[in-house]
Amino acid sequence: MKPGLLIVVSGPAGVGKGTVVSQVRLKNRYVAFSVSATSRIPRPGEIDGENYYFVSRERFEEMIKNDELLEWVEYCGNYYGTPKAYVEAELAKGRIVILEIDVEGAGKIKKQYPKSVSIFITPPTLDELRKRITKRGTESTEIIEERMDRAEKELDHIHEYDYIIINDTVEKSTKEFLQILEKERNNYGNENIKKGE
Ligand code: 5GP
Repeated sequence: MKPGLLIVVSGPAGVGKGTVVSQVRLKNRYVAFSVSATSRIPRPGEIDGENYYFVSRERFEEMIKNDELLEWVEYCGNYYGTPKAYVEAELAKGRIVILEIDVEGAGKIKKQYPKSVSIFITPPTLDELRKRITKRGTESTEIIEERMDRAEKELDHIHEYDYIIINDTVEKSTKEFLQILEKERNNYGNENIKKGE
């Protein structure tokens, strides 16, 4: 059995990474997706246990205290974190586990899992990102500005990532993502053969 592979995906909120990741999940059966916990209020259409585990701030703080999270951050006033048990169990099964987390969380994961592979999904331009966030229509003007500020700061970290995908179209980005998975899985295999494991 091949060892598990941890993939960290980041990119400004609104860039469309959720859509790309869901296409990748449909096309690669080895992929497991880590559902994060958050204290944010669900957006219309979001489902508990699918998009996030929506929890209270109190419950989130309890998860931190009980060491139930691999990493966590406070982002735009809400907590977000990666539940540890699922990731560890899926990696042990040899699956590819995808974490969709922000740049701060990505840095923390790279320290804990130096062999993890990081992918940054970027909008073609910041203007295009603003259009996408505004079109979603679920955020107030103030939140849109806060997310644009945050996006610019996140883009400063782009060079820390192993791969960059420019999200012009979902099809192209999905194809590039699947190619990265294929390449990295094969790398793992070769590395193990070389070591004689
Ligand atoms: P949103 O509120 O738009 O769903 O997510 C806001 C930001 O939080 C996004 O950049 C998203 O990638 C990030 N995020 C979601 N889950 C986690 C998590 O478990 N850990 C960290 N560090 N960031 C997360």
